[in-house]
Amino acid sequence: MTHPAVAAARDLAPAFARRAAIWDTERRYCWDNVADLVDARIMGMSIPAEHGGLGASYLDVVQVVEEVAKACTLTARVIVEANMGAIGAVMAYGTDAQKAFCAPIVLAGDKPAICITEPDAGSAATDMRTTARKRGDTYVINGTKHWITGGGVSKLHLVFARVQDEAGHDQGIGGFIVHVDADRGGMPDGFRITGRERTMGLCGMPEATLVFDNLVIDAEWALVPPSGFRGGFADLMNAYNAQRVGAGTIAMGVAAGAYERARDYLLARHQFGRPLAEFQGLQWMLADMDTQITAARLMLHDAAASRGPNGSQFPDMTRAARAKLFASEMGIKVVNDALQMFGARGYGSDEPLERMYRDVRMFTIGGGTAQILRTQIAGAALGIKTPQTRDGYASPPAMHLHAAE
Ligand SMILES: Cc1cc2nc3c(=O)[nH]c(=O)nc-3n(C[C@H](O)[C@H](O)[C@H](O)COP(=O)(O)OP(=O)(O)OC[C@H]3O[C@@H](n4cnc5c(N)ncnc54)[C@H](O)[C@@H]3O)c2cc1C
Repeated sequence: MTHPAVAAARDLAPAFARRAAIWDTERRYCWDNVADLVDARIMGMSIPAEHGGLGASYLDVVQVVEEVAKACTLTARVIVEANMGAIGAVMAYGTDAQKAFCAPIVLAGDKPAICITEPDAGSAATDMRTTARKRGDTYVINGTKHWITGGGVSKLHLVFARVQDEAGHDQGIGGFIVHVDADRGGMPDGFRITGRERTMGLCGMPEATLVFDNLVIDAEWALVPPSGFRGGFADLMNAYNAQRVGAGTIAMGVAAGAYERARDYLLARHQFGRPLAEFQGLQWMLADMDTQITAARLMLHDAAASRGPNGSQFPDMTRAARAKLFASEMGIKVVNDALQMFGARGYGSDEPLERMYRDVRMFTIGGGTAQILRTQIAGAALGIKTPQTRDGYASPPAMHLHAAE
């Protein structure tokens, strides 16, 4: 049965489509849409009912994401990050106090930021240098994160850092919940946002550089996954598999929206005395678009409903990687083909396809590049560890493969 939030998303989509150009041209975050998502209980819909959410499954969430992505890519990203990624990790691994603190913030409209990437640690995430050093009942965080989605608008941040004991010995990689509230005192000492990227698409979403300079947080805000800090990076990345399925769904939803526009245009536009829809060259393009979107949707739903190893509540890593890889590359191709069908009009800014094309280009990069996803899929097929699946706390040479035990 389809979750009621999917119908709510369909109802909201026309307003989101009307506003989408505003966020893009003014490079402004979609706060109006967030208010609608709060009212519709879509923000945090995956949070369990005992913490105030709807307890919706990831399969429910991705169906909502598709409806919204057809209208506004930016808003679809907000939904993914308000239900997957950081908040998913907190709800799975957090203490009761952490869950009780974070859930209401998301339900009230916050899209938590997940802070992994650093200037010298992109695809090689475990090369991160940000440290969280134990000092009494606190951790002291130092380092720089960049390309952090939502930096400057998010209140909750899940900061990945290399954990050190009091003596400075490496303990593995952990997550730390950092809370910022502009309404209540603003940024904590030792936490600065030092820059915002200028991006080709998704322009309403800040992609920020965050600097931690002796930021002190109470030890109770350390998110300790089941395997402790030593194996914790793998646990945290399991949670991230959900966000990957969400990101793939955004790309698929944008493609589906572009497809619908193209289909209607072929019926409406006439050349050579007949509708474009009567030209077989365009019919076959449309058939390929429809087929590829359908294939991506099936893969994404399969991944969203799957479960990882050892009873993990998060999607299986390989299924998530395959689905995101296929959907993100498909999304670029399908939106490109839709734009082509519109001729000059597709290239102009009065037609949303040029914005959709700029937006969808991101999804083979953010959240695991197409190359890294292929590396993961190959690693699973061959039964070998790849750089992305190596032990999280080690810092081996950047590029090697070693046999799984
Ligand atoms: C819009 C946007 C939003 C983002 N949001 C966030 C966020 O919220 N939080 C966060 O932590 N990060 C975020 N990122 C960062 C993102 O996760 C990284 O960009 C990504 O992991 C790639 O890292 P990099 O850009 O440093 O590329 P690099 O790792 O430098 O890679 C450069 C190129 O080399 C390829 N490459 C690298 N290693 C290999 C290999 N072993 N084999 C084959 N090819 C390889 C890559 O695929 C890529 O094509 C975001 C990025 C973008 C664009």
